[in-house]
Amino acid sequence: MGCTPLAWQPRATSGRQRYPSKNAYLVVLLATVLVEQNCSSQCLMVTELGPMISYEVESYLLNRFSSLKMAQRVLAWINRFKSNLSAKMQRGERVSGELDPLELHEANLQLVRCAQHAEFQRDIQCLKKGDPLASKSQIKSLFPFLDGNGTLRVGGRLQNSDQPFEMKHPMILPKVHRYTELLITALHIDNLHAGPTLVIATLNQKYWILGCQAVVRTIINNCVRCTRWKAKTAKQLMGSLPTVRIAGGRAFENVGVDYAGPICRNNMY
Ligand SMILES: [Zn+2]
Repeated sequence: MGCTPLAWQPRATSGRQRYPSKNAYLVVLLATVLVEQNCSSQCLMVTELGPMISYEVESYLLNRFSSLKMAQRVLAWINRFKSNLSAKMQRGERVSGELDPLELHEANLQLVRCAQHAEFQRDIQCLKKGDPLASKSQIKSLFPFLDGNGTLRVGGRLQNSDQPFEMKHPMILPKVHRYTELLITALHIDNLHAGPTLVIATLNQKYWILGCQAVVRTIINNCVRCTRWKAKTAKQLMGSLPTVRIAGGRAFENVGVDYAGPICRNNMY
């Protein structure tokens, strides 16, 4: 079955025009993470070399920006900044230029793990230790597991399927979290303000959100642009009919026309 082309195309935007420069990200990083938070641990998180243990920076970025892509790109710049510092100390090769898709993908995974860490911390600890999940666990029925990067994924029953790994084992996301909200909003806008069915179908290719339908419907219902497009136009109440049209009388007693343009006649006099 072929794809039907879209009736209209979204406005083309250039990545360079849409996002601020690398220097601007560093300004955001230094100004917001270090100054506004005024937190020494955050400073250590950024400048410290080595794996990031806490998710304070990720959660801060998610709350700082209203766009998932922006948070993702800023985090990717922070990761590059850290890896370049490490490379400089070890006299390795530093990375420069625009962000590549792998860096953005890794930043996205970090944000996903941040959301999972906030909501499923106990379950993740149990899985790391190899213990069974608690009976009250929200995700027990999904048979979750941790992949090589420590991301929580659905076990499911599709192991023998030839689908891609991300589709067979989607990443589990909580119902209420800033990342979930930004993700659904981004998908809704990227798909030209799509309805709940299309957004859920797109989500399920990579993510598994608990209570997905209700969350998606709530976020789409709060979309200002969709609300304006769906608004019903005002309908005027029709006026009363004139008496000559509803009262009885002889034929042609009252005659009228609905419309008459300019009438021309010969000038006889
Ligand atoms: Zn919308």
